[in-house]
Amino acid sequence: MPQPARLTALPSPVRNPFDSAWPFASTVSDPRRGPLPAGSPAEILRRTADMLGEPLIPSTGVGESAALDLIAGLLADNGIDLSHPHAAAHLQPPVLQVAVDADALASASNASMDTYDSGPATLAIEKWVVKALAGLAGFGPEADGVLTPGGSISNLLAVLIARDSAAAALGVDVRRNGLHGLDTPVVFCSELAHFSVQRACAALGLGEEAAVTIASDENFRMRTDVLADELAKPGRTPVAVVATAGTTDFGSVDPIAPIAALARQYGAWVHVDAAYGFGALFSDQLAPLLADLSRADSVTLDLHKIGWQPAAASVLLVADNNRFASFGRSVDYLNPADDIDSGLDGLLGRSLQTTRRPDAVKVATTLTAYGRAGLGAMLDTCHELAHAAAARVVADSNLELMAPVTLTTVLFRVAGHGLEAAAVDALQGEVRRRLLTSGRVLIGRTKLPARGGRPAMVALKLTLLNPNATASDLEDLLDQVVATGLDVRANSGEGAA
Ligand SMILES: *Cc1c(COP(=O)(O)O)cnc(C)c1O
Repeated sequence: MPQPARLTALPSPVRNPFDSAWPFASTVSDPRRGPLPAGSPAEILRRTADMLGEPLIPSTGVGESAALDLIAGLLADNGIDLSHPHAAAHLQPPVLQVAVDADALASASNASMDTYDSGPATLAIEKWVVKALAGLAGFGPEADGVLTPGGSISNLLAVLIARDSAAAALGVDVRRNGLHGLDTPVVFCSELAHFSVQRACAALGLGEEAAVTIASDENFRMRTDVLADELAKPGRTPVAVVATAGTTDFGSVDPIAPIAALARQYGAWVHVDAAYGFGALFSDQLAPLLADLSRADSVTLDLHKIGWQPAAASVLLVADNNRFASFGRSVDYLNPADDIDSGLDGLLGRSLQTTRRPDAVKVATTLTAYGRAGLGAMLDTCHELAHAAAARVVADSNLELMAPVTLTTVLFRVAGHGLEAAAVDALQGEVRRRLLTSGRVLIGRTKLPARGGRPAMVALKLTLLNPNATASDLEDLLDQVVATGLDVRANSGEGAA
């Protein structure tokens, strides 16, 4: 039977983070296995369901170790292995063993963040984590933050605060009275912003149409000339401008300082979605990309991306902690005034959640174990790998590089060599699916935006977040991409699909 993942909280040996492989957790122990199980999705899902048996709660259980063995075996055979050097599809990193161990401690405590008596130690840990991260962002002592279940939710909370703030400036109390009186509210973001901005607008009653997308330039950064024109249009209430620091597909960083200056001119909230890019601040080399982050009113960051944490480890930072008033709530059984006066206060008023996991425990443990230098070294390695992969793409006539490397993402295509545009698009999709079902290589795909008369096109994507991967691992990965591309073309009688 495969060993279940180590879930006991052993003290991690203090190690020199620069000498050998980074200790990542994995539930897959077979060294011959690729990042995914080989086979069609239908086969793998059926095999897994068969191992679980009838979807019925058994009337009597099999006991703890049999149950754990079953689930561990299922993850080992049919699960993902993000510690494999050929896992490069999403912003989903391998996770540090120490964070997994600390997360087991957090679960075992079952503390909640909403009240003092749901767990005092974890309250102090979350406060420590958000202050430390706010300091790294360059915010002052008024800044504060809250951990959330993901970047999408951090963005939702930011747009909620921005909405309330824009409404308050017009004398409208949205929380009490709804959106009446808030005339044509709009939120500006780049065309490459994460879709959670649109979802936030929808969820907050502004409607998805309230998200006005701004064209990006040839380096995939928001065009500030277009933003200026859009902000100047009359008849709308500018609620927020969302800059992205590290776009999900390209890693590009919008020009934060000019965006913030424009937004302020129109009284709009400045939110920076740094879900992907925030970790650049761990690296001396990459931190300048985010030098202007402290101009924001709020920042989203995801340490389950660059940060090597198990999900979720997202944070919403707010420059002025008074803005959390949007979530303030007095509840008789949780935070009565006389209890608060006695110091019995929790973090109910920072969140829409009531029970909330102590996700800060793994984060505090990781930051303490590795420090900024350790995490920075991990990121620098991934950044160098991205440059090495890009150079390999450029050197190969069967591949085309589609975007400059900013963080750890490489956008490329299998060359069409004269195929029609639709067939080249289809070729990219087919190559990725073949690699994926082979179980050997897991890469991403996306669409490049249309540019100067050229239509949008499908591209392949490497999201490199494994600092244990080497340049030769990526050589091998790209060799397999090229070979698969040639194979698909050779075997497709009537087009690449
Ligand atoms: C990943 C990502 C998000 C969403 O974060 P989740 O944690 O997946 O909810 C938001 N914005 C950007 C830029 C991202 O890359």
